[in-house]
Amino acid sequence: MGTLAQADCWALRLAEVPPGWRQVPLRTAMMRADGPLGAIAGRAAQVLEWDRSHRHCGVCGTPTELQSGERARVCPACKHTSYPRLSPAMMALVWRPGEVLLARSPHYPMRFYSALAGFVEAGESLEDCVHREVAEEVGVTVQDLRYYGSQSWPFPHSLMVAYTAQWVEGTIVPQAGEIEDAQWFAIDALPDIPPRFSIAGHLIRDTVATMLAAG
Ligand SMILES: [Zn+2]
Repeated sequence: MGTLAQADCWALRLAEVPPGWRQVPLRTAMMRADGPLGAIAGRAAQVLEWDRSHRHCGVCGTPTELQSGERARVCPACKHTSYPRLSPAMMALVWRPGEVLLARSPHYPMRFYSALAGFVEAGESLEDCVHREVAEEVGVTVQDLRYYGSQSWPFPHSLMVAYTAQWVEGTIVPQAGEIEDAQWFAIDALPDIPPRFSIAGHLIRDTVATMLAAG
């Protein structure tokens, strides 16, 4: 999986927890171990899940074999090759002077308000995805997308790509089933937002801090 403090790291699937060890959910482990250890835990979980779900060739059904030299499973019969799957998803913090648009999803594990997010569809650019998701989820239009940063999000294999986007026009219309509530929040009166562990937490705090500093 990589090295940590010069020690090689391996991913293993165990039938049961060895004596003296304790099982911890990945999300909890990553929250406690921000940085390199959390990144390796996330990579290990994604690789194990890919390995588990690609035992057979998707084309002809033959059991696949691990490829040497690169992280891939190859079919000995038809040579179809599978690589660990990554699902790009965008996140957008929509802003206008003095306010940011935050939404609550019925899918969130906790009851906080966050930036908008959605998976990139086949054939879309990240920018296309931001415009489409923002329009679908809250019914507003945006401009001036600025790249903020990205984060591997191994639940189970997302790559979050975060942007800020300036509101252009439209009043908020939450998408039924996807958005429980969405509102403009004054930057000095935010609701509960995600912890810094997730890129949403960084995106919202950093953007609001920049807006407050700019007055
Ligand atoms: Zn095959």
